[in-house]
Amino acid sequence: ETAIDVERIRADFPILATKVGDKPLVYLDNAASSQMPQAVIDRLVRYQKTQHANIHRAVHHLSDIATQEYEEARRKLQHFIGAREDREVIFTSGTTDSINLVMHGYGRKFIQSGDEIILSELEHHSNIVPWQMLAEEKNIRIRVAPINDQGEILVEEYEKLFNENTRFVALSHVSNAMGTINPIKRMIAIAHQHDVPVLVDGAQAAPHLKVDVQELDCDFYVFSAHKMCGPTGVGILYGKAHLLEAMQPYKGGGDMIASVSFEKTTYNELPYKFEAGTPPIAAAIGFGAAIDYLEQIDLDVIAAYEHELLIYATEQIKMIPGVKIIGNSASKVAVISFVIDGVHPHDVGTLLNQDGVAVRTGHHCAQPIMQHFNVAATSRASFSFYNTKKEIDTLVAGIRSVQKVFV
Ligand code: PMP
Repeated sequence: ETAIDVERIRADFPILATKVGDKPLVYLDNAASSQMPQAVIDRLVRYQKTQHANIHRAVHHLSDIATQEYEEARRKLQHFIGAREDREVIFTSGTTDSINLVMHGYGRKFIQSGDEIILSELEHHSNIVPWQMLAEEKNIRIRVAPINDQGEILVEEYEKLFNENTRFVALSHVSNAMGTINPIKRMIAIAHQHDVPVLVDGAQAAPHLKVDVQELDCDFYVFSAHKMCGPTGVGILYGKAHLLEAMQPYKGGGDMIASVSFEKTTYNELPYKFEAGTPPIAAAIGFGAAIDYLEQIDLDVIAAYEHELLIYATEQIKMIPGVKIIGNSASKVAVISFVIDGVHPHDVGTLLNQDGVAVRTGHHCAQPIMQHFNVAATSRASFSFYNTKKEIDTLVAGIRSVQKVFV
């Protein structure tokens, strides 16, 4: 049974009291963005009311406090992912920004014409498009590890893609469209046998699973705060120090330099080399508070409870005739992508909204997956530790009434 007191937890999230018309909100779009507990909201307010200033550049009182709080948030992220050093954690504007940073900083410098990059079929567009941009610029070949009909990467096929031209691998830890948890540690080890570094897109993993970057031995790991009870506008890039040091900066500007003249500019040390301009100070501090909140519940407890929700919802949805779950791996986080025979997902989303139920409909920025399953779009219910079985019952009743309208 659950170790989570879900009613107590729900009370921490003021937005969960929202009404949609006269229906209570049932928020099942957590894979897009999760909600913020009062503790994180309070932290943002406290920063804005009593600590706000620009960081790193001044000796005055508030700047000193803001700098300390910002660096404290960095250390919270460092410990959260088990990074060796705090300078291995770069604040970015989010997962997309982090991947683009690596594409520019590592890819443009170290990957050349004729080289190859390996991705998987279940990547989010943000872990496809930057690599395609690089591939077009430099005549690089992108090779794609295929998935099976459960939505699992075929690791034997992935392994066969390596050759003497392989220079980089970029893989998601967890699929956003289907929730599949990839055997990422094994896939990293395979890449390392070929001396190829690996970037892991952890946007959908970090909110739900305990991540240890040293244990995974990934070279880069990226995720966003807004999917894990934090604010929008901030995320991180974790990178092994020696790789980050070898990379070129992504953005030029203030704070990322050691000295500037029109003849020669030298760059600042890590992590500042990659944090040009004023960073998202408030959001980063809010991110730190979100990490505190998640750790106080405990990621293992969160994972266990969310797994219970997944099993319950899967059983219920499987019992409805005419509803098909897309990507039904045994190894998943609490995400259910589904299609209803004869009903367009957009209509599913619109009707569920009338019951107060928020799901995401569309291609989920993962069009190759849609192509694999030969669907234009799906409806996706994604759960968080503040969701309840009763809310799943509301979803299931909603799906049944959608069928009554359309079928
Ligand atoms: N990768 C995955 C797997 C995601 O789910 C998302 C967000 N949907 C992203 C990358 C992009 O994250 P962001 O929009 O925060 O940059």
